[in-house]
Amino acid sequence: MSLDLKSLVRTIPDYPKKGILFRDITTLIEHPQGFRESVERIAALYAGQGITHVAGIEARGFIFGAGVAIALGAGFVPIRKKGKLPGETIGQNYALEYGVDTIEIHADVVGPAHNVLLVDDLIATGGTALAAVGLLRRTGAAVAHAAFVIDLVELGGAARLAAEDVAVSALMEFE
Ligand code: 5GP
Repeated sequence: MSLDLKSLVRTIPDYPKKGILFRDITTLIEHPQGFRESVERIAALYAGQGITHVAGIEARGFIFGAGVAIALGAGFVPIRKKGKLPGETIGQNYALEYGVDTIEIHADVVGPAHNVLLVDDLIATGGTALAAVGLLRRTGAAVAHAAFVIDLVELGGAARLAAEDVAVSALMEFE
């Protein structure tokens, strides 16, 4: 019997600030079967599609992305916040509600020969994922798919990615 993964996600009101309903995946990954099924269900969607690398966005994207990479027999590429990677990097700025953030990858990690699946825990406005897709594509890599555990559908992120020719999957939706 398959698990109700959505029931394993906890909602925390007023985090990180008042008025926000934070969808907390730590309760999902604490559950051995919940964690395994999340990873296996994502991987099953992309098996046999020639994915060479899974790129996970720091930090919760590492948790799911690493498992998906192993399941697909792909490599794993960490997309990190500025200043964390030791080698030569390329970076991409993106707008936050207040201010700007930067994500980075190693400059030599993927290129035109590679087919990358982007993985993160959650898509909201899609701003983070769009920046990640832009960064990966600057190397010449193909990025046609992005997988999330949770889609906050009303914030429209999946549509923004679709407009950039990135097909989105999510294991569950919240308003
Ligand atoms: P976006 O850039 O799509 O607006 O926001 C998505 C990013 O913010 C993801 O990296 C995700 O981890 C984080 N995020 C925003 N809201 C939530 C939330 O309610 N729960 C979790 N787990 N992550 C969130």
